[in-house]
Amino acid sequence: MKAWWLRRSVRFRLALWYAAATALVLCAFAWFVFEVIEHRLAAEIDRQLRIDFDLVEPQLSVDTQGRVNWTVRGSHGDEGFSRLSAWFEVWSENKELLLRHWPVPEANIKDVLPPPQKSTLSFATVELERALFVRVMERPGRVQGRSVIIRVFRDEAEMRRILREIVEVSLLGFPLAVALAAVGGYLIATRSLAPLDAMARQARRITSESLSKRLPNLNPNDELGRLATVFNETLTRLEASFAELQRFTADASHELRSPLTALRAVGEVALRDGNDPAMLRETIGSMLEEAQRLTDLVDTLLTLARMDATTAGAMREEVNIAALLEEIRDQFEVLAAEKGQTLAVMSDHNVVVQTDRMLLRLALVNLVHNAIQHSPSHSKISLAAARGASGVDVSVSDSGHGIAPEYHEKIFEPFFRVDKARSRSGGGGVGLGLAIVKRAVERNGGRIIVESGSNRGSIFRIELPSSSQLAGSPATT
Ligand code: ADP
Repeated sequence: MKAWWLRRSVRFRLALWYAAATALVLCAFAWFVFEVIEHRLAAEIDRQLRIDFDLVEPQLSVDTQGRVNWTVRGSHGDEGFSRLSAWFEVWSENKELLLRHWPVPEANIKDVLPPPQKSTLSFATVELERALFVRVMERPGRVQGRSVIIRVFRDEAEMRRILREIVEVSLLGFPLAVALAAVGGYLIATRSLAPLDAMARQARRITSESLSKRLPNLNPNDELGRLATVFNETLTRLEASFAELQRFTADASHELRSPLTALRAVGEVALRDGNDPAMLRETIGSMLEEAQRLTDLVDTLLTLARMDATTAGAMREEVNIAALLEEIRDQFEVLAAEKGQTLAVMSDHNVVVQTDRMLLRLALVNLVHNAIQHSPSHSKISLAAARGASGVDVSVSDSGHGIAPEYHEKIFEPFFRVDKARSRSGGGGVGLGLAIVKRAVERNGGRIIVESGSNRGSIFRIELPSSSQLAGSPATT
């Protein structure tokens, strides 16, 4: 049953729910109406019985032989409660029938009612013969000073006919109303779900080649509109990721092709006129150089790919920032000295953070390397660490040519270089360094900010979150 139900369409299920709800409401309503009308009609019959009693009692008399007689005396000249329809019995207190006036022959009656049991006011419904239901009221009365019990009857046929009609009309109308509700529900559901169909049709047409297409959104304020909005936003993000991926692949292929072309060219020249061992040695030397560049590039690409691929959190360990900065300074001292630059470390010895040392080191190495590359000779490069408002700030500042504000975001994209020609000739990389820095910092839960302007030098600041800060820990250097 459940499987059958789940195989049906949403509009079909909605229509069934709608019909079931309508059926339930109709049943409850019909039952309520029936009860109210039945109660009203019964109360009306009881009221009539009381009037009958009040009419009959004063018209009863006892003759000289002690027999009870009924004399019709219409109080206003009419006979109101006519001789024909008058239906009552008069009983003595010792259960002796004194007078019976029935409009139906007594012989037809299946069960003549037994004498009254109690001399109190009571109402009852009895079936006198097949399908002849009557309402009976018994009430003590007095006929010329003699105590009697008067029993008045009223036929319930009319009331029962009305109630039967209500039931019949309800039974006839019920299936029709439920069927109408089902059809109406189906039509409403079809109409309401039409945008969903349109969305499904359009979504089927969207492939990786047509990611710019969007789902139709007729009303962004309703539930389906919100779904379309969310889906379209997802498509926008996907499109951006795809575009980035395509750009990355194109850039990577381009960067890989340059050294390969150079390798091939040098090889071909050597093959053609390679008789001189000295020249051959030089050729092999430059080929190895190109091979080394290729290896470096592939290594960097691998580092990036690994960072993107792993979703696991960084390895947390206690890192003394001052010690790390000094270690990096020692590593780059020779390179800086070649340009007459000085590297200075400024840090409290007790700035310690819980972080992935390898990733933080990788980021700082790239930043210091860039600073040396983009700073003039005999300038100073500072490596600093301090407690910031929300954690620990580690910065690398130089007094180089700086970066124009419009490139502050872009420099973190893979393969982006502000000045490709200068970067290459100046011994720069392929534009992957800052992309690696950004990923490394973000995987450590931090963020990187650049403060720079043209010819104002640059400050790259890494903000590590406070949760990774262990204030007051002893320095390890
Ligand atoms: P590259 O491998 O070329 O160094 P990066 O991703 O490290 O690539 O840097 C991207 C670009 O950002 C560089 O080409 C350079 O133009 C600019 N840049 C990076 N660091 C600095 C800096 N300290 N001073 C000025 N420009 C910088």
